[in-house]
Amino acid sequence: MNFWDKKYQEFREKVRAFAEERVAPLAVEIDEQQRFPIELMKPLADEGYLGMVVSKKYGGSGFETLEYAIAVEEFSRVCGSTGITIAAHNSLGLWPIYAFGTEEQKRKYLPRGCAGELVAFGLTEPGAGSDAGGTKTRAVLEDDTWTLNGSKCWITSASECYAAVVTAKTSDEPGSRGISSFILEKGWDGFTPGKKENKLGLRGSDTAFMHFDDVKVPLENQLGETGGGFKQFMKTLDGGRISIGAMALGLGQGALDCAVKYAVEQEATGLKLSERQGVAFQLADMETELEAARGLIYRAAMMKDEGIPYSANSAHAKLFASEVGTRCAAKAIGILEQAGARVGEYPAERIWRDVKLCEIGEGTSEIQRIVISRNLTKRYLETLNKS
Ligand SMILES: Cc1cc2nc3c(=O)[nH]c(=O)nc-3n(C[C@H](O)[C@H](O)[C@H](O)COP(=O)(O)OP(=O)(O)OC[C@H]3O[C@@H](n4cnc5c(N)ncnc54)[C@H](O)[C@@H]3O)c2cc1C
Repeated sequence: MNFWDKKYQEFREKVRAFAEERVAPLAVEIDEQQRFPIELMKPLADEGYLGMVVSKKYGGSGFETLEYAIAVEEFSRVCGSTGITIAAHNSLGLWPIYAFGTEEQKRKYLPRGCAGELVAFGLTEPGAGSDAGGTKTRAVLEDDTWTLNGSKCWITSASECYAAVVTAKTSDEPGSRGISSFILEKGWDGFTPGKKENKLGLRGSDTAFMHFDDVKVPLENQLGETGGGFKQFMKTLDGGRISIGAMALGLGQGALDCAVKYAVEQEATGLKLSERQGVAFQLADMETELEAARGLIYRAAMMKDEGIPYSANSAHAKLFASEVGTRCAAKAIGILEQAGARVGEYPAERIWRDVKLCEIGEGTSEIQRIVISRNLTKRYLETLNKS
């Protein structure tokens, strides 16, 4: 498998054509109005983009992780809000059910999700973001029914989803061992979306609180074993980080494309901006960093598909790509100067607001550094033990 194979180039062209035609025309409007583009869900599902990580057996399109990363990259290149909606639904909503669900759960929830009804992922709580082990939401079991109480915040597609995978404390065991996960359906008594976030960027994506007020969850909706929720979510985030990296890469590429076009088209005192060495070198640095990020993301994607442990690699990809994306967007605004600072005129400013959030979601840059450094130490100690 080589990411420069014709197969992947053709796939990218197909996604790009769809993204340019259907998604790009909405990008400015949904950002300005903070409007979730519900009208895109069916067309996206019809093309298979809302079931990319699920096999055809359960209604998915069964793409490779590399194809999934390319798709998220291409959608984010024109619209970060659409990028995160696709990424969160596939990696965080569908994937845990696909990976850890029973046959009944997969048959019940995956086909609807792949057909365009969104599935959300509720881990973060006020006071339990990076420290997800500090979950306060509680689930108590009585006569084959769990009762959930608590709240989640910053949940992508919290208002628009038809189901959600959420974590709750099911015992007082210390740390992460007492956490389990559940599949909840919209419309169940006591399960309600809460206040919508007024976000810096990704404003066309739906981010809101989720509240659980004595929600009755049948035992058959417990996902995996009791106490296994934390491990599941860590694995889910390992995969999700590839898609957040791909989002940041697409956004950074969008910033570069915008800056190149501007620099070639604009003249100042007889020289095109692109002929000025100060600008040209910035463009060169942007492309170099984006290519490096692309390599890390595709490598992690290919490792996931090959069954090679990739936890540190997806953290490398997410950490590097999100910081590169932010640098590229800031450089693009600098190259565009006044035009770059005007809201809504060129995409650079929207990209800068969108890509900054890629440094936070699915683990901040600091958390990625923790994952990477722990992995490094573990590998070193394993080598010592072998020798
Ligand atoms: C656009 C967007 C979409 C999101 N979607 C979802 C979603 O769908 N589902 C969901 O569950 N969550 C979602 N989140 C929440 C996200 O995962 C959390 O915001 C993130 O994990 C950080 O948590 P926090 O905001 O509580 O920050 P905190 O954990 O409070 O961190 C604050 C600061 O302290 C640093 N820090 C914290 N702990 C450590 C440590 N041990 N060592 C070093 N530094 C540390 C952090 O890096 C950060 O700089 C989303 C967030 C965003 C921005």
